[in-house]
Amino acid sequence: MASRINGAKATLATDSTLMFWCPGCDEAHGVRVNGPNPWTWNGSLESPTLSPSVLVRGGHYLPGHSRTCWCTYDWEGREPSFQCKQCHSFVRDGKIEFLSDCSHGLAGQTVELPEWK
Ligand SMILES: [Zn+2]
Repeated sequence: MASRINGAKATLATDSTLMFWCPGCDEAHGVRVNGPNPWTWNGSLESPTLSPSVLVRGGHYLPGHSRTCWCTYDWEGREPSFQCKQCHSFVRDGKIEFLSDCSHGLAGQTVELPEWK
């Protein structure tokens, strides 16, 4: 391997929330690693591993939401400004493994977590 120096791929936003950048959603996700029912975290910011999986849902992917949604509402030809999503992943050894039930384009793929900036 040419490079042995890795930047941090996650950050502790507070005492209890570990944040990482999700390349599927192009936004940060955070999980609680302290307090009640925390995720198990290996303590590494360079090569984080989290357990169990991380599930982020919005809009009509939330349980109990009706099938009609802002994201499919007919805005008279204009692009809806709201997109519903589901993101389900395992973070292991600094990589993020997207499960096939993600709504974004990286579903089913494993990619390197980007450096936290
Ligand atoms: Zn995501």
